[in-house]
Amino acid sequence: MLESPKNDADWSFYEESGLTPLINVSGTMTSLGASIVVEEARRAMADILPRFVMMHELQAAASRRIAELTGAEAGFVTASASAGVSLSVAAAITGFDPGRAEMLPQRPGPKNRVAVQLGHLCSYGAPIGQAVELAGGVVVPVGQSTHVMDHQLETALDAETAAGLYVVSHHVVEYGQMPLQRFAEICHGAGVPVIVDAASEYDLEGFLRQGADIAVYSAHKFLGGPTAGIVAGRRDLVRAAYLQNLGIGRGMKVGKESIYGTMAALEAWKRRDHAAIRRREEEALRLWQQALQGFAGVTATIVPDPTDNPLSRLKIAVDRSEAGFSAAAIGKALAAGSPAIIVRDHESELGYIQLDPCNLAEGHAGIVAERLQEVLSDAQAKGLEEPDPHDMRNGAARAYRDWQAD
Ligand SMILES: *Cc1c(COP(=O)(O)O)cnc(C)c1O
Repeated sequence: MLESPKNDADWSFYEESGLTPLINVSGTMTSLGASIVVEEARRAMADILPRFVMMHELQAAASRRIAELTGAEAGFVTASASAGVSLSVAAAITGFDPGRAEMLPQRPGPKNRVAVQLGHLCSYGAPIGQAVELAGGVVVPVGQSTHVMDHQLETALDAETAAGLYVVSHHVVEYGQMPLQRFAEICHGAGVPVIVDAASEYDLEGFLRQGADIAVYSAHKFLGGPTAGIVAGRRDLVRAAYLQNLGIGRGMKVGKESIYGTMAALEAWKRRDHAAIRRREEEALRLWQQALQGFAGVTATIVPDPTDNPLSRLKIAVDRSEAGFSAAAIGKALAAGSPAIIVRDHESELGYIQLDPCNLAEGHAGIVAERLQEVLSDAQAKGLEEPDPHDMRNGAARAYRDWQAD
């Protein structure tokens, strides 16, 4: 939980703007506005907005800040982590050659293959393979979805390989994948650089230490920065990625406020009282866990993050035959109220939803606890409308198709 607008201000904002009031217990979801932007970043953005700056100078200052926090040689800020992946792949394809950068994506030259474990070819709202292709890369899937061996990567790396891409995320298959260190050893053995998509990870140093040549982060996820991406790594590759702003990066342009806001968020990250935030998050989890006691068929457990971020969530598992309703139905009912409470439901087919405490404003934890009890009491009395989890997935595309349809 972060310092954030007080509840009253929160709700009056929604009334005045005509937007749906909501509480985010799903995590750092870009579809909900990512995260609560920290005060330091908000102030920095307000400071720079009315001024002119030399953008290369600002990016050089960002590079120093990024280097300090990540241990990288250099870095820069771009529009998003997804943009960071495309620019890093482009860098591996063209090297430090502006003429070749201008020829992307249609004429990448002979070395444009990007090796990715099949289980890492995930969607974060868009297919990651497309972020590679945007840069003129060709995705070479390695291994099978739940089973990858060394020789499969070794064979995939050939004279046409520009990079290996490794994704650290709850979106990827969580077993049977090659550890980053091994992936990097094999890539480096073949003279191939490794790009790590660590968009949603707290650890700013570990992936570079484990052999990544470039690590890409989102500024707007756990860092609580503005919408932006951070590219950090080997100086030559970072410079080649920055050069892509002459080409495909033009449509991924980042503004002065996002660069400066990201720098402030990084600085604030250093000073943040992570232990105190963790304690408040754990308090919220226990409050919700208590609120769920005594409902037949409903089990609430505090579970660690699957990629080892220092964050726990409340897993609400529902035995449908005992409870008479599913976990997905609870999520749907919570989203239908006002304020809408948006839960983490991407695994609801497995019989559970999760509550993520990392984006709670003051007062929100209590509202969630009350609504949990209301929804579950109603559910016990009258049952719940049952959503179809696959149809919920289709809903992501439906929302785009329906937008402004009439
Ligand atoms: C969120 C996410 C992205 C996209 O990040 P943006 O900064 O919103 O572009 C990419 N990869 C992974 C693994 C993510 O979790």
